[in-house]
Amino acid sequence: MIHILLRVFQYAKALFTRKKRSHEPPQTRHVSRQKKGKPDKKQKGPMTFQELGLSSEGLAAVERMGYGEMTPIQEATYPIITAGRDLCALAETGSGKTAACAIPLVQAIDTSENAIQALIIVPTRELAIQYVEEIDKIGSDMGVVAFAAFGGFSKDIQIAKIKHKVHVLVATPGRLIDLLYDGVVRLSQVRCVVLDEADQLLMEGFLEDIDLIMSCILHEHQTLLFAATMDDEVTGLTKKYLRDPVHVTLLTERAVPVSIEHYFSYIHPKQKEAELISYLTREKVNQTIIFCNARHKVDRLFRDMKKTFRDIEYIHAGLSQNKRSSLFRQFKSKKIQYLIATDVAGRGLDFTHVSHVINWDLPFDTSQYTHRTGRSGRMGRKGTALTFVSKSDLPKIRELFRKKEFTPHWIGRNPLEVTGRPHDKQTPKKTGGSRRYRGKRRSKPPGKSSTQPSP
Ligand code: ADP
Ligand code: MG
Repeated sequence: MIHILLRVFQYAKALFTRKKRSHEPPQTRHVSRQKKGKPDKKQKGPMTFQELGLSSEGLAAVERMGYGEMTPIQEATYPIITAGRDLCALAETGSGKTAACAIPLVQAIDTSENAIQALIIVPTRELAIQYVEEIDKIGSDMGVVAFAAFGGFSKDIQIAKIKHKVHVLVATPGRLIDLLYDGVVRLSQVRCVVLDEADQLLMEGFLEDIDLIMSCILHEHQTLLFAATMDDEVTGLTKKYLRDPVHVTLLTERAVPVSIEHYFSYIHPKQKEAELISYLTREKVNQTIIFCNARHKVDRLFRDMKKTFRDIEYIHAGLSQNKRSSLFRQFKSKKIQYLIATDVAGRGLDFTHVSHVINWDLPFDTSQYTHRTGRSGRMGRKGTALTFVSKSDLPKIRELFRKKEFTPHWIGRNPLEVTGRPHDKQTPKKTGGSRRYRGKRRSKPPGKSSTQPSP
């Protein structure tokens, strides 16, 4: 009871401090995308964490993490979450959705109660680990215990930990169901359920699991959905799990992060490797992830690239969990510069230093393109994406350009250009981004490049 009163007080305080801001959250909020450093004149600057009425430990934690101002998604969702409303929040990759959820959630935990009070479901093991790390940073001084449960790791250890004390359980669907069957996880005290990367969790492959998990939480609870992409079909599915939700969308349907430049290279598959080596050598690469569509392609590319680059590793679901976790840790702390990966690294993971994302293979669909390229350009930093395109990819490329609002820059020939003009005279739709390439390629005009495809 005291806990609820405290929450109401904190929310009222936050609203009071922000007097002229919105009072009750409206049903749907569409917040326009603002460029960093160019705030809308009519609006106040971003809200700071001091204004929220966080506990002193919470405030000290966000300060330690270097978070001064709230990101737009954090500012938009905080009052909704603390008011106990269900929420479907959409915002671009790298916009701070984890903390948007974790900060109010941690504040709501009653540490005197030894029970799982919040359940966060994520699609991959690495995301579970990352989520727990973020919650630990925010909540460990308050005594909040978060724990990640995922497959590929000793169930006995996880059971022992859960039985001892866990307030926030972050889990992948498969292992969570196992633990539910074993009677280890009790969800009767869960007040808040979060689906992160909700669109993926509500897609075939996970949907049945999510259905089963949600059917185990019969009592009244709050449900929060976070995603960077969501099509209409999935939005329809969310209705089943949300009660009178508020929809916050900081995305237009076609948006991609403005901080990323999108390059494409039309190339014969046999020439990709030479082009990749040449690209990585001439570009100023901080860290890069090279995405392939299949494990065997990752293996093969790694074998070949290892001959040229020493500081290179690979990752896919065929590796042991220990190896995967260790590689991700090393990559995150910049001990590895080049990582060849399948889509296990494609979603949600926060790699601050990634300057370049390379699609060795064209992603299967538009949202996968958004997630992969969103591993760079996080929190407004500059990022570069390069996608190799072969002849059979052209229909999908057209679809990508139709669905996503960005300026594609072609290195060399643009195969979609049908004017018959000389290749090297092409200008992109908007100016700016390709200048770098024009300069660099002066000695070797794209039209004469050895990497030109023979379509
Ligand atoms: P998303 O889930 O939207 O893809 P993340 O939650 O992974 O994004 O956050 C991306 C990065 O932004 C992380 O490195 C995180 O530490 C940082 N971040 C989050 N909130 C803030 C903030 N208010 N100020 C500064 N950095 C932040
Ligand atoms: Mg995320």
